[in-house]
Amino acid sequence: MIAAISTVFPETHHMQCLYHLYQNLPKNLRSCLGSPLYQEFLKDFRAIQRSHCESVFERRSAGIVEKYEAGKKYITTMLLNRKHTWVKCFTSRHFTAGTQSTQRVKSENALIQKAVQSSFFLSQVQESIENRLEFELINNRYSIWKSSTLQYTQPFVIQTFFKDIDITMKKYLTQSIHDAHYKQMCQSVCYRTHQVPFSEILASDDDSFEPFFDKEVDDSIETPIEADEDRELDLKSLISMVNSDDILEIWKVSRYNFPKCYQHVILLNTGEYLCTCFMLVTHGIICRHFFKVFVETPKAYFHLVLIPKR
Ligand SMILES: [Zn+2]
Repeated sequence: MIAAISTVFPETHHMQCLYHLYQNLPKNLRSCLGSPLYQEFLKDFRAIQRSHCESVFERRSAGIVEKYEAGKKYITTMLLNRKHTWVKCFTSRHFTAGTQSTQRVKSENALIQKAVQSSFFLSQVQESIENRLEFELINNRYSIWKSSTLQYTQPFVIQTFFKDIDITMKKYLTQSIHDAHYKQMCQSVCYRTHQVPFSEILASDDDSFEPFFDKEVDDSIETPIEADEDRELDLKSLISMVNSDDILEIWKVSRYNFPKCYQHVILLNTGEYLCTCFMLVTHGIICRHFFKVFVETPKAYFHLVLIPKR
């Protein structure tokens, strides 16, 4: 399958579904490691999977094979040798529209399985599926109604700061992509920003970098939505991706209520920008951090070509 993907779709990047990746771990490692050690492995594995940049991945995965010797074969061949397909620092460099798993297809499948029984006649199967689809349609209509009535919008913000951008986006983008940007523009006012001098960056200690999310390895704890500041990589990795002569300005953008969560935005003389959240790359959406910087400096430019084609 993996070989076939690279032959048939040479331009694509193969990634693994995180849901299945995590599902396969207990099947292959729990019995050979033993339960307590397996739990420890799971914790380490989560941290490795969420590594935002390559140096962090290297640090976290160092010694993992020796530590879990009994699972050496699986960890080496199925996990580490395929790191490009599941570790965040590699997968987050590609446009995925935010998809990390095949969950959506799977949940549709599970719904159908629940609705039908193996003893059913074909006509009963059809009837059950139709009933289920009708029920889902009602659910869907309800969620659309809910989001349309409860969605917070700030026309004042758009009118004041992003009027022309909004008009252009309305004209050329589809409704859903326009709405995604509208939300980012509205959210940008929740941030403060200041320009970071180059000298400060060179002097900064990279080891102190610790993304907010990585502290939270326990999935049972729900991350509050407002703390949703997932940095994909640190500033130095971001700078290393571009020619330093092309950098015009660097800005640090942080939330008013969560000053510890911050992103860096680099403005380039090509009219482009890079942000440590990497939203433009992974989701194809210009992020709220850029919109915040856009309001502050005349060196930040908006142009429709920033948004990748779908
Ligand atoms: Zn951003």
